[in-house]
Amino acid sequence: MRTGKGMSELDVLVVGGGISGLAIAHCLTRSGLTVEVWESDTRVGGKIDTVVKQGYRLESAASMVVNFRSEVDQFLLTAGLQASKRARASHAKRYVLDADRLCELPSGLRDMLGLSLFSRFGKLRLLAEPLVPRGWNPHESVTEFVTRRLGKEFLEKIFEPYVAGLLASDVDLAEARATMPRLTALEERYGSLALGAILKKVCRRGNGARPDVFSFRGGMATLVETLAREGGFRVRRDLRVSQVWPVSNGWMASGVMGDSSRATFSKQLILSTPADAAASLVDHLDAELARLLRTIEYAPVNVVHTGFDRTTITHPLNGSGFLVPRCSGFAPNGCLWMSKLFPDHAPEGQVLLSTYLGGARDPAAANWDATRTLDTVMHMLRVLLGIKVGPEMLHIVSHARALPLYHGAYSQRLAAIDRRLAALPGLYLEANYKGGVSVRDRILRADLMATRILRHRNSVLSNNTRARVPAGMQDMTPASATIR
Ligand SMILES: Cc1cc2nc3c(=O)[nH]c(=O)nc-3n(C[C@H](O)[C@H](O)[C@H](O)COP(=O)(O)OP(=O)(O)OC[C@H]3O[C@@H](n4cnc5c(N)ncnc54)[C@H](O)[C@@H]3O)c2cc1C
Repeated sequence: MRTGKGMSELDVLVVGGGISGLAIAHCLTRSGLTVEVWESDTRVGGKIDTVVKQGYRLESAASMVVNFRSEVDQFLLTAGLQASKRARASHAKRYVLDADRLCELPSGLRDMLGLSLFSRFGKLRLLAEPLVPRGWNPHESVTEFVTRRLGKEFLEKIFEPYVAGLLASDVDLAEARATMPRLTALEERYGSLALGAILKKVCRRGNGARPDVFSFRGGMATLVETLAREGGFRVRRDLRVSQVWPVSNGWMASGVMGDSSRATFSKQLILSTPADAAASLVDHLDAELARLLRTIEYAPVNVVHTGFDRTTITHPLNGSGFLVPRCSGFAPNGCLWMSKLFPDHAPEGQVLLSTYLGGARDPAAANWDATRTLDTVMHMLRVLLGIKVGPEMLHIVSHARALPLYHGAYSQRLAAIDRRLAALPGLYLEANYKGGVSVRDRILRADLMATRILRHRNSVLSNNTRARVPAGMQDMTPASATIR
């Protein structure tokens, strides 16, 4: 539909074409809404990108999807992505570094009790978990929660490296409820993680949704590029949104595209940018909302991709990689054996190892120069994998703001953000600083967000009421906004 001087009218404008924005746009389009995504970069995908170098396929951020939810399967099906899925190789054992050896990560309680990774005391402490009373502090850190329920050994050997390696977070600062909501929910609901997990497993039997680890033919870029191409919505690239403001019945957004500007009206507006970019856009509407968004910290991460001839590595590489605990003395947080997980990520006879440096545990490491970075990574790979020579391929991806840190009383901060947003009807915030950073969580949240938006739209339609500019906001049109 078009209004005024050739200005298009949209049901929803999504600002930001990362996986969060693209997934929401697809879910809304699927429900019959007219949606556009405006992305400031010349490519879509945000953090997610796949680069090919010397025959290696290199992932900039997410390198796989770990899924156990049928909604994600359904999403991929409607997006035409099921046929492009590439399952992880089946021999995917995972390791954690313990002293100077790689120990297989346990996949269940029975495994844990049999492993030499834990001392006898550590195993007894694990067995006592169902006897531990429920906690009282909703903002407990991961360290407090895991130590209380499972013991210090379990924290140091499993959770600390997991939270640092996968989320770039610091267990001492990360809020348990925001960082691992499924685990804390087990305590809330069943009073015990072990009992809750067993009960959930029994109940889940037969309902079909099985854990699935996969990438896509051509790598993770296929996910975002397919959504942008075939998701049913229009994507405008190289268009940085610089202003948003409420008008009668909806929202205006304007931005810069090359040396021209563009503006549009949409009934509802979703900001799917990182928190600091969202803060700049809402600052003139609600300074407190902007302040809250700016308090969300991000950790820097460098992804160090190294390619080797298989014959130069003595380790059997019979798994998917390893995590590194903070007490190990090695700087990296972990290393993925990418070509073992997905053989099409390296040329025949070659091996791709992707190592992660930085995060909240050691942010300074993400600022090291290439020489120090490579020396640090090679020292670890030499010791642990018996690599004899330097890599034949090196590619470093630097993310200055890689991942949001769910630190402090995080869920309280998100609740405060939601309360302030309630005064700005038709405006939504949705990106990886809310509800999980993984691609799976981004798709699940997109599904939820689409349901919420449709509900809002239907209630407006059925009440035959028109959304109004909130009181006191009639003069929020930025003076500099020119609509062409
Ligand atoms: C190193 C690393 C490894 C990871 N590994 C995994 C993994 O293996 N599996 C997994 O599930 N997850 C993984 N993740 C997490 C996952 O990749 C990210 O959480 C997710 O891609 C973030 O998506 P997003 O859309 O929320 O944000 P982003 O990708 O940051 O997208 C935000 C978009 O908004 C755009 N934007 C910003 N400002 C404006 C503006 N003013 N106007 C228009 N556009 C704007 C940006 O250009 C960007 O495209 C990893 C992340 C990192 C960093």
